[in-house]
This record gives sequence, C-alpha cells and structure tokens, in this order.
Amino acid sequence: MDFEKLLSPIDIGRLTLKNRIVMPAMGTSYAAEDGGVTDQLINYFTARARGGAGLLIVEATAVHPLGLIFKGECCMFDDTFIPGFKKLTQAVHDCGGKIAMQLAHGGRQTKSALIGSRPLGPSAIPAPALCTEIPKALTIDEIHAIVKSFGEAARRVREAGFDAVEIHGAHGYLVNQFLSPNANQRKDSYGVSLKNRARLALEIVSEIKNTVSPNIPVFFRLNGEDYLEGGFTLKEAVEIAPWLVQAGADVLHVSAGVYGSYPPTIPLIGSDLACFVPLAEAIKKVVAVPVIASGRIKTPFLAEKILEEKKADLISMGRVLMADPDMPQKIKEGKTEEIRPCVGCGQACIERLLGGIKTVKNDPISCLVNPVMGREKACAIYPSSQRKRVLIIGGGPGGIQAALTADKRGHDVILCEKKNELGGNLHVVAKIPGKEEFSEFLEYLFKEIRKSGVKVFLNREVDLKSVKEFKPEVVIMATGADFQKIEIAGIYPIQLFTATDVLTEKSDILNHILVIGASQIGLETAYYLSNKGKGVTVVEEGDHFGPDMGPIGRFDLIGTLIKRKVRLLKQARLIRAYNSQIDLIVKDKEHNLKGDFSIISTKQVSNNTLSEGIENSGLTLYIVGDALRPRKALEAIEEGYYTALKI
Ligand code: SF4
Repeated sequence: MDFEKLLSPIDIGRLTLKNRIVMPAMGTSYAAEDGGVTDQLINYFTARARGGAGLLIVEATAVHPLGLIFKGECCMFDDTFIPGFKKLTQAVHDCGGKIAMQLAHGGRQTKSALIGSRPLGPSAIPAPALCTEIPKALTIDEIHAIVKSFGEAARRVREAGFDAVEIHGAHGYLVNQFLSPNANQRKDSYGVSLKNRARLALEIVSEIKNTVSPNIPVFFRLNGEDYLEGGFTLKEAVEIAPWLVQAGADVLHVSAGVYGSYPPTIPLIGSDLACFVPLAEAIKKVVAVPVIASGRIKTPFLAEKILEEKKADLISMGRVLMADPDMPQKIKEGKTEEIRPCVGCGQACIERLLGGIKTVKNDPISCLVNPVMGREKACAIYPSSQRKRVLIIGGGPGGIQAALTADKRGHDVILCEKKNELGGNLHVVAKIPGKEEFSEFLEYLFKEIRKSGVKVFLNREVDLKSVKEFKPEVVIMATGADFQKIEIAGIYPIQLFTATDVLTEKSDILNHILVIGASQIGLETAYYLSNKGKGVTVVEEGDHFGPDMGPIGRFDLIGTLIKRKVRLLKQARLIRAYNSQIDLIVKDKEHNLKGDFSIISTKQVSNNTLSEGIENSGLTLYIVGDALRPRKALEAIEEGYYTALKI
C-alpha cells in the first residue's frame, strides 16, 4: 500500500502540513515545576518531529493557574513562558516539523491540592470520576475573565512561534463542562439551552480568532459524545459544529468521553479500534473545514481507509506515536512491519499521569513498548566503548529488551530461555480476553530479535556450570517469577491452582472459584474465569482492589467484574477450606462460602536462585524485572533497557 491519502499534504489557512498524521495533545508532565519548557519536553517533541508526523500538538496547557489539570503541565498564563516555548517551536521547526499548542482550563476536573483552592465549574456539581470535589460555580465576571485568559494565552502561543492553537473543548474539562447538562445546570445566559451552554466555547473561539488571525489557524477539540448519562450528545455536537466554524474554528478535532464515561475518553486495550470515527464522520457532514478523527486509530492501514472513505481529513494518532515516534517515516519508507505497536495498555503513559493527579506526585510518564520515551536524549542507545560478552538468562520481556539494547550497543549477546519459545509471561497476558494485542508486541520483539545479532538458545535451562561455559563478562538475570500454590489449613480434597494454570488452561477448574489476591493479575484471572461462566469470588487482604493498577484500568476492570457479579471482598482472608465449604474472615467477621471450590493463588515469588553462585564466581551480575521483585512487564522492560545501557 502506498498510503497516498495519509501521506498527502493539506493546507489549513497559511499552514501547510506535509501529511495527515496528527499527534494530539497528550499529557506528559514533562514541563518544569512552574509549567515552563524543559529539555525533556523539547527532546520528546523533536524525536516525533524527526519521525515525520504532520502536526504535533502540545498537551493541554493551562490558561490560568486555577485551570491546571495535572502536575508538570505546560502553562501559558504569563508572558514569561514565551521565551521557553520559543525554544521548543524553533527546535521542532529545525527538524522539519509543525507544532500547535492546546489551551485548556480543567474546571472541576482537577484537585484543590494541585491548584491551591476549590476547583471551578459551571455549577456546583462534582465530576463523575477521579476528581470528585464539589466545584465552586463560576460567576459571570469570572467566566468573562476566563475567556480573556484564553485570548491572552493564544497571543502568547502565536508569539512563541507555534503553527496553530487548539482549544480543549472535550474530555470533561471546563469548556466541555459548560456544554454538558450533567455539569452545567446554570439558569443564566450560559446554561439551559444548547445556545447558552455553547456560549463559552463560542466566545473563546471568537476571542482567540481575533487574537491570532490570520497568522495561525484555530483548532477546536470537540466531544462528539460524552458517553455519560445527561452528557453532551452527538446530536448536539452536530448542531454546534457549524456555530464553532462560524465563530472562527478552522479545524474540528473530534473526540469523545470524560473521565468515568464508557467508552472511556482515552480508549485503551479492549476498546474498539477507530471507536470515535463515526462521530467525526457525522460532524464532517455538516462543516466545510477539515475534521480530525481520533480514537484508537492504530495502524496506517486503518488511517488510510478512514481517509479514503472520506470520514475525516486528518488522523489523530496519539499513543501510537508515543510507542513509535518514527512511525510516519516508516510508513513513507514502506517499512510498516517495523512499526513498534502500542498495545493500548495505558500503564506507563496515562495511568502514570493520572496517578500523578490522584497523589499529586508525578512519576514521569513513559511507554511500555518504548522505554526511552521521555528520556529520548539522556537515555538514547549509544555504542559501547568496549564490546563485552553478555549472557542474558531468561527470554521474557525484560530479557528480550536487555538483549536487544545490548546488541544495538555492539555487545556480543547470548540469550538463554528454558522454554521452547521467547516471550515469558507476555504469552499468558495475551490470553486474557481483551488483551490479545500484547501478542502484536511479542511478534514485534521476535522480529527485532531475528534482525539482531543476538544468539538465542531455547530449551536451555542454565545452571552455574553452563554460565561459566558461556564465558560471559556480564550476566543479566531476567528469570522472572513463578506463581506459587499456597498452604491452606484444614483441607482436603480441594483444588489449588495458580493464575498461570488458569490462564494457560492447564487445569480443570470447578464452577466455584476463589481467587486469592486482588492485584491486577488476580482481577484479570477473575475476569477470565467469569468470561467462562464461572462463579468467582476474589479475596483481598488489603483495603484496595487493583493496588498495582492505574485509575482507568482499575475503574474499567472492577466495573466489568461487578457487572458480571464477581464477588469482591476486601480486608478478607481465607482461613480454612473443606470439601464443600470455605471459611473466610471478612472485616473481622467469619464468613462461609458453600460449595466445591477451586482456589487460585496469585502469589508470585522471584526466580533468582542462581544469583548467589554467579556473584560468588566473580562475574558482573544484574537482576532485572520479576527476578528482582515480582511486578509487571513494564518494569521488566524498563529495567532490561536501562541495565543494558550501563554495560
Ligand atoms: Fe501505548 Fe501502553 Fe505505550 Fe501507553 S504505555 S503508549 S498505551 S504501549
């Protein structure tokens, strides 16, 4: 396929984009503490400009200190921010890219701990999820001041050399809140009728247009649907789209959802591909300006098809470009099979960012499949000054990543795996319903290994003797963790299994299941079994379900489990199991479950028994991933990558 449509240029006013690929605004938390530019932010964007995207849009940028959404967010509420962002636009332009900035006000969808006072909103109604403080309803004067602050910020955007400005009118933030009846119950000129609810959006568009026209175009990010009861609907979006254009919008960028909606505003793994495209298509029918479609448009093939079918004029590809900044260039060069696929896990990107909102403590976001994201310059792969013989024990994700990185650095790499295939627990994850996309990443890793100089030994259980026979100078132990059956008092006969037994279908499971532990693997095992029609109870000793999960994934998975009538018990512990009864302590009270149960353990124990012997033999040893401490593929891949950079 030659991707004729996707790679064709487009003119938007004075702006010409070289192709139809748009990286939408996505929160990164890479800005400085005061909201200014950092080298990290510049390196992140220049990597994607070099990769060939038509337009990059900087994340939701605060127009006012009380409009902040997350810590480490870009800010444009003062002229002092202009020089820093000039450096960013200059750097992107030097790489042949074009860059826009999205302007936003969080409204009620923020935290007082972040902004230092009560969040603001159209009415005193809390957001449905994540940020649930009751906001202060804005006065008319305050609304007018917010319109002005958008205009002032847009002037700064223009002066900083951006190629376009986008208004964030979607995803449950302030402008969207005014549009949505479930957030806006005002009785004045900004509420009740659609015309009134759209007034803030239209005033902001006019204000910005008057400020930046004709120099740079104005984009508007519009929800085609809130997907929430009482929310903004497609019918309304179709009605206001021409009003936005009349007010001055040059491009409509169509999205959907708010935090707490279903489908989610950031559709991840398990969500349909191209899920918001029908909304863009409907809006495109009523306006003459270009329309951008979004929502899990993962592949260039899908993007080309959407353009061919005239459902949109440009394609928003967000997390896809986090995962592989060079995707546009690879499309151009006919190397689509080399694109590193985003699996939609959300783990290192949006979940870390939202974890930052919740705790007001940001971990820098990254990408599960692209561990260098956010550290593009500081942690780029560079050739080693000394070629070493590196033995990697364990061919799971951490071991593979360590092998690929060490190989790219010029080392002589041997990768030993005791099973007959590489991939480790990623094979198990890919078996969970809705998580099949992990197999695309596995395929990508296998291709990379085949292209590399890594010598792979399968069915090779390594002991101390064989370690020495390989004569390595460095050993990386990526031997993972094993699920363990647990000791239970009072039983027998009763069936005891591990999560792997279940997910690999090695076991004959009864109809009543008790899953012990509500970490992600426990909840996903429960989901897998409920999918098979089993009656499932999950017991968790702690106070929280999914403590190792991000807020979106947890909200989604727990919601599904509840719908499927999976019983979730916290502060609960199994004390005895008999033939037809299970005894639990739940919140200090004894509780019995009747029936014949299979019991599933989610307890994992690091598999690193060789480490002591290797260290005693004087070899340099690194332990990565679950072999160090049972966690997830994300940590294993990061540690594999960064360990191989150290050698
Ligand atoms: Fe995609 Fe997961 Fe990477 Fe986010 S962390 S960009 S969802 S692969």
